[in-house]
Amino acid sequence: MIETRGLVHRYGDVRVLDEVDLDVADGEFVVLAGANGSGKTTLVRHWNGLLDADDGEVRVNGTRVQADLVAARTAVGMVFQEPRDGFVAATVGEDVAFGPENLGLEREDIDARVRDALAAVNLAGRESERIDELSGGERERVAIAGALAMRPDHLVLDEPFTGLDQPARESVLDRLDALHESGTSVVVVTHDLRDLLARADRLCVLADGDVIVDDTPTRAVERLDGVPVRRPC
Ligand code: ATP
Repeated sequence: MIETRGLVHRYGDVRVLDEVDLDVADGEFVVLAGANGSGKTTLVRHWNGLLDADDGEVRVNGTRVQADLVAARTAVGMVFQEPRDGFVAATVGEDVAFGPENLGLEREDIDARVRDALAAVNLAGRESERIDELSGGERERVAIAGALAMRPDHLVLDEPFTGLDQPARESVLDRLDALHESGTSVVVVTHDLRDLLARADRLCVLADGDVIVDDTPTRAVERLDGVPVRRPC
């Protein structure tokens, strides 16, 4: 479980997160939406300890993130907004192996994790292919495999559909459904809600530094009609 309690984050004088409370339970599919600059990326970066809070805290599986960064980064797999330009290696296998290698695991265990992670994103046996020769959708799935190779309990994807055409988007969604069905909790950060509301358990919307709506997608969309941010995008 990811528990966010009273989280405050300031950039200079600007309070981007203002006492945010937000939980993600094991096995949930959550969509985190909000206008550009509403603090979505800042929030999820706290979930695996990439930022220090000005106040409040995040706990992952009961442990304070800042008290055990390795545990948090293992439990929360992050797929960042920029991975399609920022891979750490030239080939698929090397890139996906990067996280497990940093955990200091045996080669056999690393190779097994890479195999399993690539199979989970429908890229089995593609280890030796060059990332710069893959399509956008395949690159996004390599980025997801990199997170999965850490065997996370929670997978958080920041704007995973940027630049993807509809077939590529559907192939990523299909993989997220399969991961969700296998028990991994999935959080999609996006301002493009197409195809997501039907599969999400909850829609959470950030605005003005706080969560303004946190409900089932149907009720959340109804409630958004009554607030100034009419559409979560
Ligand atoms: P987007 O949908 O555009 O990615 P977001 O909801 O993810 O936005 P954040 O990226 O968390 O929002 O940014 C929240 C606010 O904090 C924005 O106004 C942004 O310009 C500002 N901000 C983000 N990172 C920094 C930084 N390193 N230094 C100063 N300000 C920052």
